[in-house]
Amino acid sequence: MTETSTSLIHHPYKPPSAFEAIPPGVHKASTIVFPTVAALRTRDWKHKTGYTYGLHGTPTTFTLEERIATLEGGTYCTLVPSGLAAVVLVGMALLKSGDELLIPDNAYGPNKAFAQSELAAWGISHQFYDPMNPADLAAKLGAKTRLVWLEAPGSITLEFPDLPQLVAVVKAHTQAHPEGIVTALDNTWGAGIAFNAFTLGVDISAHALTKYPSGGADVLMGSVVTRSEALHHLIHFCHMRIGYGVAGNDAELVLRGLNSIALRYAAQDAATRALASWLQGQPQVEAVLHPALAGSPGHDVWKRDCSAAACLFSAVFKPDYGPSQIDHFCDSLKLFKIGYSWAGPMSLCVPYDIPASRTTPWLYKGGLVRFSVGLEAVSDLQADVAQALPAMQYSKD
Ligand SMILES: *Cc1c(COP(=O)(O)O)cnc(C)c1O
Repeated sequence: MTETSTSLIHHPYKPPSAFEAIPPGVHKASTIVFPTVAALRTRDWKHKTGYTYGLHGTPTTFTLEERIATLEGGTYCTLVPSGLAAVVLVGMALLKSGDELLIPDNAYGPNKAFAQSELAAWGISHQFYDPMNPADLAAKLGAKTRLVWLEAPGSITLEFPDLPQLVAVVKAHTQAHPEGIVTALDNTWGAGIAFNAFTLGVDISAHALTKYPSGGADVLMGSVVTRSEALHHLIHFCHMRIGYGVAGNDAELVLRGLNSIALRYAAQDAATRALASWLQGQPQVEAVLHPALAGSPGHDVWKRDCSAAACLFSAVFKPDYGPSQIDHFCDSLKLFKIGYSWAGPMSLCVPYDIPASRTTPWLYKGGLVRFSVGLEAVSDLQADVAQALPAMQYSKD
């Protein structure tokens, strides 16, 4: 007889053998055990042909990686603990001291902040370019350039760039470049649904699974997908060295969300377009930015390259309304909650300041509010915005 503590650990339980459940099992492990030392020595931990350690992947995370690669039309996928971690992993895997990276000026803010702080401290320089002007990108590509970020559309201001043209500008320059220049797209908005990043020529797709793939506003996760095995190895081996593992329960939430991603994307797309078009006609509003609206920057390119649009739009208010009136408008909304993130079930809004220093042209003087449309009835959301708009009139700056 062994002591209770030992027999609780070395228990006789075996999982049911004919339990053919529809969802994949949730496997959780910090480590796994090997039958023999010889098995431990020979199992390959580099190419995902076997299991070696929790951080290197489980049946659950391998399944999710395969599903995300399929969603995005890629071949290889690496999971990381957040969307921002996906952006950071790409930089850490590809860049070394002396290299330069280029980032669209309207990119997701923390991508720029990572370049300005950590990457700069590691001797890696950066420049911001105007993604709506391929000539500006061409002028900034140089002998040190190793990585070019793309984002479609831009965060907050939602200009839709000509991705094939930007990729062509990079490829033309790459031929004369010793190591090659890699293009990486923040694909969170398209989510693998609005367009295929790899068909448009992009090398790497980084995705905040926190948004559409989860859909529940209850988990943070990111992914890095490639078609190239060589690029995947750079990313995957760096990932193993820095310990960016994801938890089994979190992977389960994303696997569950994937079942309904196409339906949610379509429903939120329709609701967002309805609301954005209606808001465009309201007297307090100068412009509504949404790639599917005619007149929004990059609309024609969006129409050429995309079959759908995500649940985001930004409203620019007339310059007569000052910042405190816009804040008051947001405070007056009842269904739209004030918060970052997007693509969850609940609608959200955030007022943003557009920095005067940006190189991407910004033609407006008024303040901006970004809306994320959730899964509520669009009639209720419209009524909510309609009741909050008059609040702006009565709160003078
Ligand atoms: C949210 C978001 C991220 C970061 O995702 P987290 O999981 O919140 O770290 C990156 N890029 C874009 C475009 C995003 O919207």
